[in-house]
Amino acid sequence: MNIVIIGSGTMGAGIAQTAIQSGHRAILTDPDSASRQRAQERISSGLQRGIERGRLPESLDSYLDRLSIKDAIPNSDVNWVIEAAPERSELKQKIFHDLDERYPSTVWLASNTSSIAISKLKVNASRHPERIGGLHFFNPVPRMALVEIIRGMDTSDEYVTAARKLVASLGKTGIVVPDRPGFLVNRVARPYYLEGLRMVDEGVAPMETVDQVMEGAGFPMGPFRVMDLVGVDVNLSVTKSVYEQTYYDERYRPHGWQEQLVERGYWGRKSGRGFYRYE
Ligand code: NAD
Repeated sequence: MNIVIIGSGTMGAGIAQTAIQSGHRAILTDPDSASRQRAQERISSGLQRGIERGRLPESLDSYLDRLSIKDAIPNSDVNWVIEAAPERSELKQKIFHDLDERYPSTVWLASNTSSIAISKLKVNASRHPERIGGLHFFNPVPRMALVEIIRGMDTSDEYVTAARKLVASLGKTGIVVPDRPGFLVNRVARPYYLEGLRMVDEGVAPMETVDQVMEGAGFPMGPFRVMDLVGVDVNLSVTKSVYEQTYYDERYRPHGWQEQLVERGYWGRKSGRGFYRYE
C-alpha cells in the first residue's frame, strides 16, 4: 500500500520506518527541511540497526527504495494518509479539511493524535467524514506493539475494518477505544506523569527515586524517563489538550515545571536535555 505520513518528527519517522519494514511504500512529508533531514537519518540508522541484529532480512537500499521524503503531499496513488503533525487542534482541523477536499472517498485518513477527540478534529471535513478516524501509535513506533484505533462520530464500519487490516499488516495489535480526550492509554497515563511531578515539587522524593521505584515496581520506565522519551513539549501539549477537553478537570491540570522546561528548550532526549541530561 502507499501510505502518506504528514509530519516527519518522532512519530512520523517511526511510522514511516515501520511501514517500509512491512513492505509498504511510505511518502513522508514535512514543511521543515531540518526535520526531513533528521527523519532520513533516524530511519536509516534504525533500519541499519535492525539489519545488523538480524531482525530485518532485506538490504538497507531495498528498504529505502520504498521511502520518499518530501515537502508536500502527493495528489494520487494514495491508500492511507496518517497525520502526525504537532498536537494543536486548529492545525489538525485544517489538515483534515484539506485532505478531505483533496482526496476521493476511497483514501482512508487517520490522525495519530495523542489526545484530541477525532470527532473534534474532523469538524471541518464535511465531504467524507466516514473515512476519517484515529490510529494512535506509541513511541518508539517500530518497537511498540499497540495501536489504538479510534472511531469518531460518523466513522464507518468499513473504516474500522480497513484500519484493523492496516495495523495487522504493520505487525501490530489494533484495539478499538472510545473517542474521548486522551482515548484510553493517555487518560490513564496523565496522572502517572502529573503525580510524579507533584511528588517531586512537594519534596516527597527526588525524581530519580520516583523513576527507580516505579521501574522496580514493574513499570518499564518511570514517569520522568517517559516524559523525556515522549518529548517534554509534546507531553505538555497532550496534558493541556486533555485538561481543556475535560472542561478543566483538576485530575489533568498541567504542572508549571513542564512549562518551564519547554520554555527553556529542555524538550527531553531529542534536545539533549529534559528532566535528565543526555550525551
Ligand atoms: P514532533 O514535534 O517530533 O514532530 C512534529 C513534526 O510536524 C515536525 O517535524 C514539524 O516540522 C512537523 N509539522 C509542523 N507543522 C506541520 C504541518 N503544517 N504539516 C506537516 N507537518 C508539520 O512531534 P511528534 O512527537 O512526532 O508528535 C506528532 C503527533 O503524534 C502529535 O499529535 C503527538 O501528540 C502524537 N504522538 C506523539 C507521541 C510521542 O511519544 N512523541 C506518541 C503518540 C502520539
